Amino acid sequence: MIQKSSNLKKNKQGEAGQSPQMDFIALTAHQLKKPLSEIKLSLQMLLDGDFGEITKEQKNFIERILERNETLICLVGDLLDMYQIGDKKTPYRLIPVDVEDLIASILIFEQDEVKKKKINLRFEKPGQKNKKVMLDREKMRIALQNIIDNAVKYTKEGGNIKITLDSGQKELKIKIEDSGIGIPEDQKEKIFTKFFRGANVIRVNAAGSGLGLFIAKNIIEAHRGKIWFESNENQGSAFSVSLPIE
Ligand code: ADP
Repeated sequence: MIQKSSNLKKNKQGEAGQSPQMDFIALTAHQLKKPLSEIKLSLQMLLDGDFGEITKEQKNFIERILERNETLICLVGDLLDMYQIGDKKTPYRLIPVDVEDLIASILIFEQDEVKKKKINLRFEKPGQKNKKVMLDREKMRIALQNIIDNAVKYTKEGGNIKITLDSGQKELKIKIEDSGIGIPEDQKEKIFTKFFRGANVIRVNAAGSGLGLFIAKNIIEAHRGKIWFESNENQGSAFSVSLPIE
């Protein structure tokens, strides 16, 4: 355990140049990751009846614990992502990336939730016109995944999500539109700040850390890209990302 932790500290310190406080947070998050996943697995087994039948009351109770555990898993994941990225620009390893391919690989992980919520998700690709962009693939994956995750998380059952990819001469645009709960007018200016969570989302969805969009903005801007959104409460949101084509 100790050895693992010191490795993490050594690698990441060199990469991100983080503060000792951030090292400590990342180290703690790293240690929490495994037990939280094990708790999730055990609770899931209990729910699935692997240890015998459970009553409706027990099922409801376990589901609530699972939900709270999911919140912790989310927070731990986001803290680790934040540590990797740091508040300041860190060395990015840029390679030519096919963004269509990257989005398709993110969507694979969303499939279960999309199916469960009967969401109609469409991905409109530009086909031949698609251009490769110089990106740090893994970091951009984190950014786009956070935005797509939100669209799935904050869209009600039977809702719609549309992802469009549009490549121009100088930039590639990605738009993620949802028919979800939207963002209240008085909260719009805080959306990209650290730990911010909308009052309307706290009411409907417990899982989340308020770090996802802060991390996404950081990564996108480090690629000289932009992120912005339009939203109407109870109608939906559209997050757009533009990335320069080299
Ligand atoms: P989290 O989702 O963990 O709360 P994020 O940083 O990803 O944190 O998002 C910050 C806040 O922005 C959310 O809590 C929510 O209020 C709002 N938000 C982000 N995406 C959406 C969306 N697609 N629909 C509605 N609200 C959103």
